[in-house]
Amino acid sequence: MPQFVESSDGKTFPLYSPTSQEVVAEVCEASEKDTDDAVAAAKAAFPAWSALSPTDRGKYMKKLAALLKESHKEMAWLEAMSMGRPVSTYFDAFAAAEQYEHYSEVGYDAQGTSSLNTPGFVNMTFRQPYGVVAAIIPWNVPALFFAKKSAPALAAGNTVIVKSSEKAPLTSAYISRLIEKAGFPPGVFNVLSGHGNISGAILSSHMDVRALSFTGSCRTGKLIQAAAAKSNLKSVILELGGKSPAIVFDDADLDAAVEETQNSVQWNSGQVCMANSRLYVHSKVADKFVEAFKARFAKIKPGDPTDPNTNHGPQADKVQFENVQKYIELGRQAGELVLGDQALEVNGNAKGFFVPPTVFLKTAEGERVMKEEIFGPVVHINTFETEEEVIKKANDTEFGLYASVYTKNIDRAMRFAKALDSGTVGINCTSPTGARDMPFGGYKQSGTGREGHRVSLDNFLETKTVLIKIAAA
Ligand code: NAD
Repeated sequence: MPQFVESSDGKTFPLYSPTSQEVVAEVCEASEKDTDDAVAAAKAAFPAWSALSPTDRGKYMKKLAALLKESHKEMAWLEAMSMGRPVSTYFDAFAAAEQYEHYSEVGYDAQGTSSLNTPGFVNMTFRQPYGVVAAIIPWNVPALFFAKKSAPALAAGNTVIVKSSEKAPLTSAYISRLIEKAGFPPGVFNVLSGHGNISGAILSSHMDVRALSFTGSCRTGKLIQAAAAKSNLKSVILELGGKSPAIVFDDADLDAAVEETQNSVQWNSGQVCMANSRLYVHSKVADKFVEAFKARFAKIKPGDPTDPNTNHGPQADKVQFENVQKYIELGRQAGELVLGDQALEVNGNAKGFFVPPTVFLKTAEGERVMKEEIFGPVVHINTFETEEEVIKKANDTEFGLYASVYTKNIDRAMRFAKALDSGTVGINCTSPTGARDMPFGGYKQSGTGREGHRVSLDNFLETKTVLIKIAAA
């Protein structure tokens, strides 16, 4: 049976509620030794795990999926306590369960090809697991990222180490108990809690970790890529940040565009990689759009995230809060603040790191607030006249995760689908709309590689060519 162990050097770190600002847990900080031990355990477990049939590996994942579904309430509460996510918006335990259910069935898709095209040979490819692989996850939707990475890695026959985020380690620690209950063999599925330094950095440069899937900031992604290059050139998949544009034409369904773009930048208090934080609205409908957007955005229900009536929690911690404040200050200098100047009335007088819905108009395109990820309920709305102009503006960032266009004109929609530099383009929809069987990932500095039901297995499989020479008769 897998086992929960405390940090070998006894170190812990305090976790503060972003609502009450009180310590809600003392969390074990994985030391260098703990990280090395986890890798060694995973390495020892690999031969037996990879020798199982996909059906037998899947049995453990099916059990884990069932346990996750039963744990929805507890996990929602833990996330509310650690990073302020309102329980009313929590779906992650079910979404994580769906990942394990799916990957419990698809291990048989790990298949190579064969070729008779070389005379005198039968050639083929094998798809084989890497061995020990690692996942480093962020704090904003932790349980989903936990599952999205570990499920395909396990299905492919790898053994896995997941490192949780120091800002939201509680659901990952909870899942480690479920892994134990599901009966995974020791060493197959390991969970570490701790900061980027020490455990994250060690995993990134570990010689025995052969693939690493990361979701988080661009800055950390680059550090991980560099550590991989300097150590064993492990295969690295990076899902990074965004500065997603949504473009609204004058022929669009304006009500739908308002509702969806507002939800995109408010959900999870704007702490979403693909949130449409830049809106470009055609000048003919801009006034109407802005009024309706402001009215909707102002109607949020901020409060204690454990209260089922709350739909807007605090920012995840003090650092995130101060970062958003810094960008709001920059925004004031660069554009016109039309929503967010009033202090937020928070239900039940909950204190904490709350940021009001904030809207800026007429911000100059070159400003930092138009280029950098803010990760808060802050949106910049600018106007445009022509297609050419707005495509140029929308593409003028180093990010490229998700872009949207609202229009009834199919030809225009297709022109935009082609022209936008983005891993996903939504037509008459915006983030967080997604599709499980479509690849998700970024152009430019939003990342490398893709995730999704039809592609993630591939991220955790090596390809081997086998050449078989046939003697002449
Ligand atoms: P972060 O980069 O600060 O931290 C992410 C993880 O990396 C944490 O577990 C952290 O401990 C670890 N880490 C930090 N330094 C490290 C190092 N030197 N080596 C190895 N690991 C290290 O990001 P965050 O603040 O947790 O998450 C927010 C970011 O994640 C945003 O930029 C957001 O856009 C991005 N994100 C992207 C996606 C996507 O699918 N593209 C999804 C969600 C979030």
